[in-house]
Amino acid sequence: MDSIAPKISLLATMPDELAAVLTELGEKPFRAKQILEWVFKKRVESFDLMLNLSKPLRAALEERYVLRTMTFAKVEGSEDTTRKFLFKLNDGRFIETVLIPASPALYGSQSDRRTLCVSSQVGCAYDCKFCASGLAGFTRNLTASEIVEQIVQVEKIAGARMDNLVFMGMGEPLANLPNVLRAIEVLNAEWGVGIGARHITVSTSGLAPQIRKLAEFPLQIRLAISLHGASDEVRDVIMPVNKKWPLRELYLALEEWVARKKQHLTFEFILIEGVNDSQEQARSLGRLARTLNAKVNLIPYNTVEGLPWKRPDERQQDAFRDEVALCGVAVTLRREKGHDIAAACGQLRLKQETDLGIIEAPIKATQQEIAG
Ligand code: SAH
Repeated sequence: MDSIAPKISLLATMPDELAAVLTELGEKPFRAKQILEWVFKKRVESFDLMLNLSKPLRAALEERYVLRTMTFAKVEGSEDTTRKFLFKLNDGRFIETVLIPASPALYGSQSDRRTLCVSSQVGCAYDCKFCASGLAGFTRNLTASEIVEQIVQVEKIAGARMDNLVFMGMGEPLANLPNVLRAIEVLNAEWGVGIGARHITVSTSGLAPQIRKLAEFPLQIRLAISLHGASDEVRDVIMPVNKKWPLRELYLALEEWVARKKQHLTFEFILIEGVNDSQEQARSLGRLARTLNAKVNLIPYNTVEGLPWKRPDERQQDAFRDEVALCGVAVTLRREKGHDIAAACGQLRLKQETDLGIIEAPIKATQQEIAG
């Protein structure tokens, strides 16, 4: 036995990979299906509970695999509002996952739907000027199983299945593309978590080459773009990623996405007073959205401690929305839940890690890292 090799989580092991290991162990490959049923349908957390497997096989699995790698640390919020879950990873880092009871602005008007906002990295390297996640810098990518485990753990704690998943927690999912794609495969698979591809949204600050790669991914997932500026002038100021891939580059990548995928694109646009909330920005946003047949979600900015930005008043928010709508674009202003939804942006983690005395040296992305 190789006891030094790190154990692999079964939450991100593909059936064929598992079958290959079983064959190596002298077992029949069909056992893979049985094992994955214990993992995803019955959600057992111990190999001892896999009762249709022999004891030696259970022991052999235990030597190689794990079923959980993170522990639930804390929850904030109540059942009928947004709940933020804090998880401790096996290296002592923290990530957050946010459960939003309903997200009508994103997915129709059913109020019994549950949307889970998952993290893809510990911290974030992209340094968007308005975002709390970027304040502590980047620590590391999440593994595919750490992404899947957020859903599995929250479903257990909440006692309910999730209807929608959005990669709008901490991190830039397209900077961790292989792990994110593997996680999505497991989350979507019949043998896995079983969430429909159309109910999975990847959100990006605009990594144009990775958007092109994502467009080749066969599943019909959705894409949201954190636009937040409708001209390079505005976007350059608040999102350094725009210097690497300005709007023109982003636009070309999105054209490719739209040509390949059936779902509408979504532009997320946080309204920040005096930064991006002018009527001119609204018109540019409206024109861009119309050209790409994209929907627009306007989100009044949620104040972040230590950052100077704030949301415009409601009259200004309405005027902005109306101007976008005039371009013939489907636009929503997520006012009521704006505050809740913005809770998805790393604020909880920052506070918790400070409380626990975990200090991370901020690492900003170098140009090369941004180039991915
Ligand atoms: N990096 C990816 C995934 C994170 S998504 C992306 O940028 O899309 C998190 C969303 O919350 C983004 O749209 C982000 O711009 C937005 N956000 C960040 N800080 C916010 C704040 N203070 N108020 C409202 N929305 C915020």
